[in-house]
Amino acid sequence: MRVEMPPITIRYRDTARQWQAWFGGNPCVAYSAESSMQAVHRLLDGLGTQAGELELHIDHSGCNTIMTATWQPPNLNLLCEHCNGTGEYVGLFHRETCARCAGKGFVAV
Ligand SMILES: [Zn+2]
Repeated sequence: MRVEMPPITIRYRDTARQWQAWFGGNPCVAYSAESSMQAVHRLLDGLGTQAGELELHIDHSGCNTIMTATWQPPNLNLLCEHCNGTGEYVGLFHRETCARCAGKGFVAV
């Protein structure tokens, strides 16, 4: 069953020198870690989130990046940006398996 989840906001806190992650607009329930993906992992784990697709809104010094990820406890997988999740790298003359994700279309973090 696929569950719709609110996007996860991930923000770097200069004062704490840590990344924080929370669901939607509710920073009251935030999890911190030294790396952004670690913070997301702790959030999902801590809240016992069910498997599903996630949208990550990463805010680093006012620069926003949106990424797609899949949560398959206990693994957090990011859509491979190199091949855009297709698992193939389309070259000028031929197609080949994407080297970054080994054809899986996602990379584990
Ligand atoms: Zn790839």
